[in-house]
Amino acid sequence: MTSTTIDNEATRLFAAQFGGEPDGVWSSPGRVNLIGEHTDYNDGFALPFAIDHRAVVAVRLRSDDRVAIVSTFDGEPVEADLASLDGSQISSWAAYVFGIVWALGEDHGRDRLTGFELALHSDVPVGAGLSSSASIECATALALDELWSLGASRASLVLAGQRAENTVVGAPTGIMDQTASLFGETDSAVFLDCRTQDAVPVPLGFAEAGLQVLVVDTRVSHDHATGGYASRREACERAAAALGVPALRDATLDDLQSALADGRLDDETFRRARHVVTEDDRVLATVRTLRESGARAIGELLDASHRSMRDDFEISVPEIDAAVDAMRGAGAVGARLTGGGFGGSAIGLLPVERVADATDAVRRAFADAGYTEPRIFTVSPSAGARRDG
Ligand code: ADP
Ligand code: MG
Repeated sequence: MTSTTIDNEATRLFAAQFGGEPDGVWSSPGRVNLIGEHTDYNDGFALPFAIDHRAVVAVRLRSDDRVAIVSTFDGEPVEADLASLDGSQISSWAAYVFGIVWALGEDHGRDRLTGFELALHSDVPVGAGLSSSASIECATALALDELWSLGASRASLVLAGQRAENTVVGAPTGIMDQTASLFGETDSAVFLDCRTQDAVPVPLGFAEAGLQVLVVDTRVSHDHATGGYASRREACERAAAALGVPALRDATLDDLQSALADGRLDDETFRRARHVVTEDDRVLATVRTLRESGARAIGELLDASHRSMRDDFEISVPEIDAAVDAMRGAGAVGARLTGGGFGGSAIGLLPVERVADATDAVRRAFADAGYTEPRIFTVSPSAGARRDG
């Protein structure tokens, strides 16, 4: 093992699967979205932060065009020739890695790519709305950018990740997850303008304010590739078209109300659009409030965001609402669904001394309702993608 290579589960899997040592180890985090849900594909604003759960990849270049990948999550290695990675949809987890290979080939020329071996280990909960998928894409992208000497900017790696997810995975997601994973900083959120792709760190000051973020993973599975996510996205596109604006970012609440009044928007599409338009405002207000008044003052914005997702966008589920209500009842400053919805996780911003009570309250509420036992853990705002060894 080289002196710079760290000992971790990814390198151990690498040695067991491929023999010897990797050329390097890279990691990238999952994320929690503090506020700004379903705004990214509407050219709007979001405020995610990178979390202290990461995907770690150990990677070594090969001298041929063969790609071999393996994950601690799924013991079966997957192999392919570079030439076969042509952007076709792939249904296994390999899509997140192979999608990046394809996207980087598109951006930089396929002649820049060579084969490689990659071993992945991640402690980002899967399918919990914490973006285990983007963390794999971003760790892989950072590794291959360096090993292939592409010199890509992090902003272009964000877009490569999005294209991998849209085209090869088949999930019509925006740029939020990859931006948080690549641009996250310790103790900060990333204020993201999805139109310009500007990503500005916003200090959160949770620790100074005596606050912690509690995540309740309901283990109700969501499916971004089909179903609700795509239909919400279509509703937003329909609303923007009816209003004659490029994206809902460009609409105001007044615009929506007059379009409802004159029949350009039906009631359901109006409510979908109202969520997006008011959520953009809440993100801006959250950034302002964090700067001017500190973290304890953002609770009502988090609560209002949850109501909007529950009632207007209709992407919550009973388990998420139960978690939000229990955390609020146990003294949360604010609580909301985070991630794309239809399951996944809820977050609560809690005074440190209320975390244990809130955890008990959520467990009790789930047991009483007969729901699957949730996974409950705290997360802290952490560093973005980096080389680890
Ligand atoms: P989320 O990103 O919210 O966790 P997604 O459905 O977008 O949920 O991504 C989850 C998928 O990512 C999994 O089904 C799996 O294909 C892949 N994945 C996540 N973690 C790992 C891992 N450690 N190893 C292999 N694949 C993983
Ligand atoms: Mg995902």
